[in-house]
Amino acid sequence: MENRFKNQVPNVLEARNLGKKYQMGELIVEALSGIDFEVASGEFVAIMGPSGSGKSTLLHLLGGLDQPTEGEVTLAGQRLTHLGDKQITLARRRKIGFVFQFFNLLPTMTAEENIALPLVIDGKDKRRYQPRIDALLALVGLTDRRRHKPDQLSAGEQQRVALARALVTEPAVILADEPTGNLDTKNSAAIMELLRRSCNELNQTMIVVTHDALAATYADRVIFLKDGEIRNQIDFQKPQLMPERLSMVIKAIEIKEASD
Ligand code: ADP
Repeated sequence: MENRFKNQVPNVLEARNLGKKYQMGELIVEALSGIDFEVASGEFVAIMGPSGSGKSTLLHLLGGLDQPTEGEVTLAGQRLTHLGDKQITLARRRKIGFVFQFFNLLPTMTAEENIALPLVIDGKDKRRYQPRIDALLALVGLTDRRRHKPDQLSAGEQQRVALARALVTEPAVILADEPTGNLDTKNSAAIMELLRRSCNELNQTMIVVTHDALAATYADRVIFLKDGEIRNQIDFQKPQLMPERLSMVIKAIEIKEASD
């Protein structure tokens, strides 16, 4: 199926022949091998696969949290692979927004302070960015909760704060690791809708690792991993509605399991 992003917009992220081996005493574990893909500006990619298929390892390599043993990652024109510690810290701070399963908010700070934190860490004057912070609070529907601390917010609200925090630096890409893994069905749908809107309205590029077939239907494309390799891909077409998308994802998972 034709990828509707292909040849239309530049790639924000490229993984080339990416591989990761872990040495465990005598044993070498090949967590990833020969991973090749690119993500276009404003594209929303879901990564699925069974436990142990290499999803977390891949996300860590894409986010510069770990170095590959083979191949390279290019983010917004900069090779992440083999950068020095200082450069990689800066690239992570300015070019990547992270969203985690357990939100990772600072408990002593308000929702608004948590959202502003990446700017403060980067030495920016928070007041200059107030309009952006206000717009993000509105986007995630938490304007009236801005002074609440994380323990005064529901799980769904905490994840919405975490998403606004990831968006605040206008990163080249957001990497989300099981963002709905700790949420009920209703809050999962709300978060996936917000991720989708971030792509549509802010042209945010998004890569989301998920176990949840329904969550994957919000993406433009789903990449399926198995034993550290890309085994399958689905490119959704715009008019496809949720039920059709869901049956495509479930079928792809079933075909993959049947061929094992
Ligand atoms: P997933 O996120 O899909 O569950 P992971 O990326 O965590 O998969 O793991 C992929 C493979 O790499 C698994 O076989 C796992 O045991 C192995 N692995 C992951 N991290 C390490 C590590 N730090 N040391 C050794 N092996 C690891």
